[in-house]
Amino acid sequence: MADAVDCVVVGAGVVGLAVARALALQGREVMVLESADAIGTGISSRNSEVIHAGLYYSTDSLKAKLCVRGRDMLYAYCTERNVPHSRCGKLLVATALSQLPSLESIQARAQANGVLDLRWLGRHEAQAMEPALECVAALFSPSTGIVDSHALMLALQGDLEHAGGLVALNSPLALAECAQDAINLEAFDGTRLRARTVVNAAGLNAPGLARRFAGLGADHVPHARHAKGSYFTLSGKAPFSHLIYPVPEAAGLGVHLTLDLGGQAKFGPDLQWVDSPDDLLVDPARGEAFYAEVRKYWPALRDGALAPGYAGMRPKIHGPDEPAADFVIQGPSVHGIPGLVNLFGIESPGLTSSLAIAEHVAALV
Ligand SMILES: Cc1cc2nc3c(=O)[nH]c(=O)nc-3n(C[C@H](O)[C@H](O)[C@H](O)COP(=O)(O)OP(=O)(O)OC[C@H]3O[C@@H](n4cnc5c(N)ncnc54)[C@H](O)[C@@H]3O)c2cc1C
Repeated sequence: MADAVDCVVVGAGVVGLAVARALALQGREVMVLESADAIGTGISSRNSEVIHAGLYYSTDSLKAKLCVRGRDMLYAYCTERNVPHSRCGKLLVATALSQLPSLESIQARAQANGVLDLRWLGRHEAQAMEPALECVAALFSPSTGIVDSHALMLALQGDLEHAGGLVALNSPLALAECAQDAINLEAFDGTRLRARTVVNAAGLNAPGLARRFAGLGADHVPHARHAKGSYFTLSGKAPFSHLIYPVPEAAGLGVHLTLDLGGQAKFGPDLQWVDSPDDLLVDPARGEAFYAEVRKYWPALRDGALAPGYAGMRPKIHGPDEPAADFVIQGPSVHGIPGLVNLFGIESPGLTSSLAIAEHVAALV
């Protein structure tokens, strides 16, 4: 006989933990199943830790709405719970006149998304803020920042547990059977659970797992694609106090400079479509292209100053030649299964949006 639990959240990344916390704060009984032996070892441990302002995403997309709402919720939460963070601001820079139309359209889109604090800077104004910067113009985003994502996840777990929820580590979910009255779950070790609400927040594995949910139509499960992003770290101190982003291209935001809370700079992530989500080694040969990209906005970057850092994997649900996909958050009104929510394609700005995604999911179930 399976044990009965009110809510099961699959995945203890930043999104699963935020969802579990939101459900527990509603007074519901919540168990998080995590396959790894610790929280936050998936996508949430290999990203830029940037609190995005919400500039880039198509207006009315979930990414745009949840990023702007999530950003405000995240700053408030970090302040309330003493999670280390900094509202350091960022400069989005055009390094050629031909990029000015793109910068203008990002500014217009940001405004439509409710990001009203951007400031257009000419070359000299930008250089007054960052003397080492080379550009023809820039947008200054004062509400972009950085956060200690592991401290954030620990705070979310703390709230969850304080509200009576729990995280079960080393507990990979193998499959599920969806019925009208409950969802029956089976872990790889044969443990069975019966839940009224199940949230699939399994990150890179979310589509693969959903395919093992008997009763869920295969047409509701997108094809998982993997876009690796490698980082290179800077030896020595960077002469910048803001994050520096180029005008984005293709399926990423371009090789940008981010700072951690200790002031250490890293560059990346670049973008490489790969077959396996486990392909996380950084190829030192990719450094060559980093020097070229970074020198467009920081010409003084020294030869030999970059060292391979780490890589993250974007949980894409569109291919290289397809338009960028929005977050896909499927509740019962989409797939017809009471109590089930699947989260697909929660790539950037998923960290920024995590608390708003949680609010959205909690409202669906
Ligand atoms: C290179 C890169 C840079 C990024 N930079 C930023 C940024 O600066 N700002 C921002 O806002 N966002 C950023 N993001 C996006 C952000 O990191 C993600 O949106 C977010 O971390 C996703 O969290 P998650 O909880 O959905 O996934 P994960 O953190 O991957 O969590 C999923 C969890 O599910 C577990 N799991 C999988 N299968 C099972 C199973 N069968 N049973 C039990 N558990 C299972 C995994 O072990 C994992 O712990 C970036 C992403 C990448 C790849």
